[in-house]
Amino acid sequence: MADQLSQLLLGAGVVPDEVDRWLWKVGVFQYFTVSSAYNLVRKDNEEDSSPVFNKLWRSKAIPFAGLMAWRVLENKLVTRVNLSRRGVQLESLRCVLCGKEEESGSHLFFGCSFAWRVWCLCYRWLGILFVSHIEPKLNFDQFRMSFSSETGLVVWNTIWVGVVSEIWSHRNRLIFKRGVADASEVFALVQVKVWSWVSTNSRSVSFSYSDWCLEPMECMRLVS
Ligand SMILES: [Zn+2]
Repeated sequence: MADQLSQLLLGAGVVPDEVDRWLWKVGVFQYFTVSSAYNLVRKDNEEDSSPVFNKLWRSKAIPFAGLMAWRVLENKLVTRVNLSRRGVQLESLRCVLCGKEEESGSHLFFGCSFAWRVWCLCYRWLGILFVSHIEPKLNFDQFRMSFSSETGLVVWNTIWVGVVSEIWSHRNRLIFKRGVADASEVFALVQVKVWSWVSTNSRSVSFSYSDWCLEPMECMRLVS
């Protein structure tokens, strides 16, 4: 064992006066980013190099929310249907938000009547109207294409990430902490979180939270 350890240390350089630190050796920056982890995971999967994912990674959302949205697109979340497919025994597969249908990814985020109320509040706020697709990748693409200008599109993508991540958080709160499903509360949290992400991650942007709530399209035009 001691010999093996000394062999391993032979290849390690020691820099005097420098504090030890962790390095993320994927990518060029040597620090963790969700996109580098994503590239590592998908390197053998050509299908994942679609424009849908490229757009997703350019959103202003925090990495945790971006990763969660990627799981929605890839149907990799531990929904009740997915858990059941992996052999986990559950008392019920019903969606906790509506109590009517099985909790698959496409139902939970796009087909559920509760999720639909959240999306409708979002559409009304943004001044758009359409019947959205329940297949995650098509829904994401459809949502993006409903925004006509390239300017601010990154914020538009961020709103989509905000809605799906907040629906998932709300679903978890109901399961683990109990409570009542409240679409208005979810929508209000989406507005706050997306405004916070955009304000933090866009250097030249300055618009107030009240402006964001009242004139979202005008605010988006300020984001390049
Ligand atoms: Zn439901």
